[in-house]
Formats: sequence, C-alpha cells, structure tokens
Amino acid sequence: MPQLTARQQHTWYSTPRWAALRGQALASDPFCRRCLRLGRRTRATVVVHVRAHHGSEALFFNRVNVSPFCPACVDRLDALIERNKRRVVAGKSIDAATDTREPVGTEVAGK
Ligand SMILES: [Zn+2]
Repeated sequence: MPQLTARQQHTWYSTPRWAALRGQALASDPFCRRCLRLGRRTRATVVVHVRAHHGSEALFFNRVNVSPFCPACVDRLDALIERNKRRVVAGKSIDAATDTREPVGTEVAGK
C-alpha cells in the first residue's frame, strides 16, 4: 500500500468527515482527558489521535482512536511522545506516554 505524503494526510484535517468526528469527540468528552486524570476539569479544544495513524485512513477517522485534550496538555504530550518515541512507535499509545510518574502541576509556562 502506498504511503500517503504528510501533505496528503494533512488535508484529512480539513475534511467534513474530520470536522464531524472532532465535533463528536468534543461533544462526548468536553474535558481534557489528561487534566481529568490529574483531577482538573479543563475544557478540551484539541482532538488528537491516541495511536499514531501513520497514514492509515482507518486509524485517522476512528472515533475510538481520537481523544480530546487542552492545548497545554497537547504540548506536554508532544514532549512526552518525543521522549518516549521508541515505545510509542513500538505500538504503545499516548496513554502509555502519560503514565510516567510526573508530578502534578508542572505545566511548562510561556509556551
Ligand atoms: Zn489538559
């Protein structure tokens, strides 16, 4: 199966299909998933893929594979994923990346 280019994958974010999926995710989970886990209720505004889709349309448009987060947590997750890249690429999810024993309330300011 041919790999889609990053540019082609990016256009999926501008499709009505993605808009609908994103809307569904935010409607059913209005609060940031990571913040909830840390005991905070922060409104989620960003929907991210739990498992990297790697150009898979099925994974990209899968309601089960998307989860709402707040922008601060997405930045945080990006950093954690970078740090845990080997594990994430090996098939672990963002959940695995968030399960590090980090202290609560250490959001990086100024980003
Ligand atoms: Zn959050």
